[in-house]
Amino acid sequence: MRRTFVCGNWKMHKTAKEALLLVKQLLIGIDATWYDKVEVAVAPPFVYLFPLSRLLAGTPIGLSAQDVFWEGEGAFTGEVSPVMLKDLECRYCIVGHSERRIYFGEKDKDVNKKVRALISQGITPIVCVGERLEEREAGKVKEVVEGQIKGALDGVEIASPSDIVIAYEPVWAIGTGKVATPEDAQEVHAFIRELLKSMWGKLADEIRILYGGSVKPDNVASLVAQPDIDGALVGGASLKAESFVEIVKNAGGF
Ligand code: PEP
Repeated sequence: MRRTFVCGNWKMHKTAKEALLLVKQLLIGIDATWYDKVEVAVAPPFVYLFPLSRLLAGTPIGLSAQDVFWEGEGAFTGEVSPVMLKDLECRYCIVGHSERRIYFGEKDKDVNKKVRALISQGITPIVCVGERLEEREAGKVKEVVEGQIKGALDGVEIASPSDIVIAYEPVWAIGTGKVATPEDAQEVHAFIRELLKSMWGKLADEIRILYGGSVKPDNVASLVAQPDIDGALVGGASLKAESFVEIVKNAGGF
């Protein structure tokens, strides 16, 4: 059974005070009984990982980073290593987000190194893939997604399905209010699962594949009702406690 997973990607938002307040509101707002069905994590900017790791210690809400560098330590000004994330008890780390690919030139081979480095530290990568609008219009969705999945996961070994999470995030749906239909998203998720099966066999049945792109309280239930959609990576709607709590609630069918 794949437990539904909802992760909030805060991107480059919030002051320290606001970040602490939001997490306190989530700890109060998310009913303790919902966690049986829904796993919850937040991905704040790097600078808030330390205080939030303290606030979240011993609570059901997990901590995720939004990116990482693949080396353990060294002269890499401005970078943060998987060892540092592990030290702060990050359970997850987003890698290959389309904003990193588009604005910072991140390539599949970089994502691959990050995935390997995270797994070696016991941190679960949330590997983002997804096509741009022009690629969808050109009928290249599967070709693009296959290239990203194979590039990011080339040679990667996993011991357990919980070692990795995939997020299908069509670029045209991110922050635009345009959400993929549940059926269109399901088609891509099923395709991704087949690709994972070709790499890891039966383990792929238990790997969670999240949908991301304008997920809101009123569309999450129909997305997670699809057989291969196992949760959501949420950007804008994770910035307010009220909407994120509603998303968690509706994702669990409460
Ligand atoms: C994201 O950037 O991961 C995302 C899904 O953003 P939004 O929910 O705002 O579309």
